[in-house]
Amino acid sequence: MGRCLPSSTVALATFCMLLPLAAGWSDFKPTTPRATARRGLRLRSGSRPWQPGLAASSECDYDVVVIGAGPAGCSLAALLAAAKNPPKVALLSSKADQRWIPNYGCWTEEWAQLDAMYAARGVPGLMAKGVDSQWPDTDCFFGEDADGKLASEPEGNARRTLGRAYLRVSRAGLKRLFYGDDSSRAYDVIKEDALGAVVGTNVFAPYGSVRLHPTPTELTLAASQRKLKARVVVDATGAESRFTIRDDRDKEGYQIAYGLECTVAGAGVTDTHVGDYARSKMTLFDYRSEVWRTTNGLSESKVIKEPTFNYVMPLSQDVVFFEETSLVANPGVSFQECKDRLTARLASQGVAITEVLEEEFCYIPMGGAVPRRGQRLVPVGAAAGVVHPSTGYQLGRCLASNVDVCAQILDELQAPAASFDPDGAAGRILGRTWTPQAIRQRNFALFGGDFLMQQDVNGLKGFFSGFFKLDVGMWAGFLAGWKDLPYNEFHAGWAARIVFGVVFLTKLPFNVAFSMVRAIVGYTLAEGPDLVQSVTPLLGEPAPFSASNDFKANAAGDRRAKNEAAVMCGFATGDETGDAGKQ
Ligand SMILES: Cc1cc2nc3c(=O)[nH]c(=O)nc-3n(C[C@H](O)[C@H](O)[C@H](O)COP(=O)(O)OP(=O)(O)OC[C@H]3O[C@@H](n4cnc5c(N)ncnc54)[C@H](O)[C@@H]3O)c2cc1C
Repeated sequence: MGRCLPSSTVALATFCMLLPLAAGWSDFKPTTPRATARRGLRLRSGSRPWQPGLAASSECDYDVVVIGAGPAGCSLAALLAAAKNPPKVALLSSKADQRWIPNYGCWTEEWAQLDAMYAARGVPGLMAKGVDSQWPDTDCFFGEDADGKLASEPEGNARRTLGRAYLRVSRAGLKRLFYGDDSSRAYDVIKEDALGAVVGTNVFAPYGSVRLHPTPTELTLAASQRKLKARVVVDATGAESRFTIRDDRDKEGYQIAYGLECTVAGAGVTDTHVGDYARSKMTLFDYRSEVWRTTNGLSESKVIKEPTFNYVMPLSQDVVFFEETSLVANPGVSFQECKDRLTARLASQGVAITEVLEEEFCYIPMGGAVPRRGQRLVPVGAAAGVVHPSTGYQLGRCLASNVDVCAQILDELQAPAASFDPDGAAGRILGRTWTPQAIRQRNFALFGGDFLMQQDVNGLKGFFSGFFKLDVGMWAGFLAGWKDLPYNEFHAGWAARIVFGVVFLTKLPFNVAFSMVRAIVGYTLAEGPDLVQSVTPLLGEPAPFSASNDFKANAAGDRRAKNEAAVMCGFATGDETGDAGKQ
């Protein structure tokens, strides 16, 4: 039974919740100089002398504060710090010094492209220092026969070799590249988290944790409660950000994968192979399951209905990385189920795990909407929904998008401090990631994710068997799916996407092609015109993010009323607000 509040308290609480909805609400309480002093902050400055180029204005501690020290946050901080006239940047995270946990995989061609993009902007070395292992080619198993046809039963064992190189990113190397160390870093690191959680557009709880002043944005550091003001605040806190609202999260799917770096033994382990997997190649997909799905206590019907595949990186003569992966599902497949399937699968190939060196629990939310418009904090990386909605690839897309984000931030900071418009800037910065074209392209991939989520193992085998029969540019362009990454010309416009769709349908087994056509109709009826807009010129383009700060038209609202209420609620005193009672 919930606690009852007196009705007057309920009314007041409701009023107080609604008040901050008007932008400009939190600008009534200027922070005193004492509150913004940097005394007590745990800062680490790099040895490079601070060169005030786009120097933080006197009312700001920083030009840019980046919350979160994952790949998105660190790559953006590194790019900004490497600019010709670098802004003053701080990266915020209590876990800033911790290693990155995920094992990131990427196509070599894509990584080489990112290497060139970052080198051109003063951050060289992605290829030289950010790679752990490379394979010149990639294998797949879709249960096909030698002629490339899918056998219903028994499942075929033909190997499909894709002719494309793959690599494992060095987590430590990439972090070192972007984050450096205390003696070389050209931005500040504050080893504290930002306090607060977004509860409505530009409304944060607890009250006052994030304040949206007319020019700067003010954050509260969680441990010390100290305040920090910046002209641009970037949210790089990952897929489950507490600072950015993304709607439609109920439509997300989840990539779940149980990964294992281990040593192996057994009859299937030879100089050239570990089970069916060639040591000289990376195996992207092994979707076969017929020989093991009734072993190790598994439910055959569950394996068929909730398919998983094995992803294999042979790392050395002794060590292999396996990852049993559910591409996308809602609800997500359990980690234990993935682990049991991996054990059964390997046993069927004469491979036993002898020592576990590292386990990985991969959880990637995919899909949902792009960030809600009109938010002051600028999301990047997973917080911005940059993950590929049908594959879960995100690192390459995040690194590529941060190049544009960085360029726009530098542009915005050229504005004189007094006329800096943080809301307009936020819209334009996020608008470089989510251009109308990128949103249209994403909507196409969203349908892909939705379709994949509904497939059983035979549907997925048929889908990928057809997918990799496409020309390499078409399939590789879909997997990356981001402007500036290789082969995006095959997906960048509505005409390219309709060609892709039609050609793809012709490569699919009839039953899968038929169910895709049915799904297109069902999806359009259920979800509206986004898919049609993505593949035709009929419905124009989504509105640009740069137009997303229209709410500013009534930015100030009735400041007197808001301040009076704040004083009466006990949030503030007249002295603090300075203008309670004045308009
Ligand atoms: C096991 C695993 C394997 C993966 N493999 C791949 C792969 O192979 N390829 C790929 O492209 N993607 C992969 N992913 C997806 C992966 O999540 C993203 O690619 C990537 O980590 C997202 O980067 P990010 O910087 O946006 O967010 P994150 O890496 O999630 O980083 C967010 C950071 O913000 C910090 N933070 C959170 N709240 C606060 C706060 N209040 N204040 C300050 N800091 C805060 C967190 O501590 C964290 O360090 C994998 C994910 C997992 C979990």
